[in-house]
Amino acid sequence: MRKFLIYLALMILSGSSLATELLIIHSNDFHGHISEADTYAGAARIAAYVRELRRNHPRVLFVDAGDAITGTPVSSLFEGEPIFHIMNAMGYDVGLLGNHEFDHGAAKIATFKDIAKFPLLGATALDADNQFISDKPFTIIEYDDLKIGIIGILTDSTPLLITPHGNQNLTFRAPADVLEELIPDLRARVDFLIVLSHTGFEEDIALAKQFQDIDLIIGGHSHTFNQHPVKSGRTWIVQADHYGQHLGFVKVNFTGTKGQYRLIGDLLAADELPQADLKVLALVESYEEKVRDKVDLPIWETDKDLSKEEIQPILERILAEHVNADLGFYNIGGIRDSIDAGVITIRKIWNIEPFSNTLVTITLSGADYLVLLAQEPKLHHSAADINPNKRYTIATSSFIAAHAKQAFGSAIKVQERDLLIRDVLIDYISKNGL
Ligand SMILES: [Zn+2]
Repeated sequence: MRKFLIYLALMILSGSSLATELLIIHSNDFHGHISEADTYAGAARIAAYVRELRRNHPRVLFVDAGDAITGTPVSSLFEGEPIFHIMNAMGYDVGLLGNHEFDHGAAKIATFKDIAKFPLLGATALDADNQFISDKPFTIIEYDDLKIGIIGILTDSTPLLITPHGNQNLTFRAPADVLEELIPDLRARVDFLIVLSHTGFEEDIALAKQFQDIDLIIGGHSHTFNQHPVKSGRTWIVQADHYGQHLGFVKVNFTGTKGQYRLIGDLLAADELPQADLKVLALVESYEEKVRDKVDLPIWETDKDLSKEEIQPILERILAEHVNADLGFYNIGGIRDSIDAGVITIRKIWNIEPFSNTLVTITLSGADYLVLLAQEPKLHHSAADINPNKRYTIATSSFIAAHAKQAFGSAIKVQERDLLIRDVLIDYISKNGL
């Protein structure tokens, strides 16, 4: 609230600057966190902030940089759809496909596009017929005398990050190749060129160096907390944390000379935003109501906090025990929440495993298993004990099994157990604790 009031005061004092000023509000990696909780602002407070700004300013551009879905029961139970209804109510102008928009298969993206009243961009993702999966590769937003170009890109590692099921024969082009094709023409047609990027902060830095014609990269994917815009080459880069814990604010003042502007930006924490927009809150509540009976049930109480890294071996042990496998393996990237001391609810298990992956056993050589483990960002705790010459049966997720099958083919045996990992965890923890 504080920053918002300061901003309003500055705006009134500076008077005439409105004519040459653009405000950009940006989010990324929202992952279905529509409700206000802990440090999460929730959709309704974000919406209230944007609505207030728009009441006082003619040029407020509200954009999202991808991975809006997956991470909460309300998203996963309804396959991401509620999130786009809520984003409509929040007043987004432009969205972007992130890798998680493929979690329910590429065909589902057609539904998201139908629901969303704003374009979902994505210049790098093509379907089996070489058509854009997104609404379009770029868009141009016009405010009287000001034209803003926005290109949308997502990471070409997407195939490694999504379930192969329902995503066969897609092409994810290298963002740099696509930008090289799109930028020259679009640059000539607009006053300010934005790339909405779901490739991660490091990649954004590199792209900015390579493409000096981009004015601003609004990023996502790496969940980076970036308090103020940073500059790479002559391009500004911003990213606004994740899960709606912060909201990005950028102000661009155009000087009147073509290509000249001043840009400042900041991240606003949840408690700096105004009180909830009641219309959006009612919509959020209507969706939460549908999942509450299923998920707000306590199953255990714990006296210690557990980080994702601490949850990983516990989860692996539970899966291995359940099917009598030699070992369990669960990728750290698939663990989407940590545990705080206190009551553990079914919702918490949903938040840890929102993907609805099933339990699968794979049988493979120790050598192949080590290759699989090497995909983890950090050395896996079991790696040192693996004998490359031995064969192991590993309890894992359908996500890992599908990627292992692609990598090793007939060298591995996959057995589907037809059980949701989430259900295995809920059942085990309610009986045995952690
Ligand atoms: Zn992502």
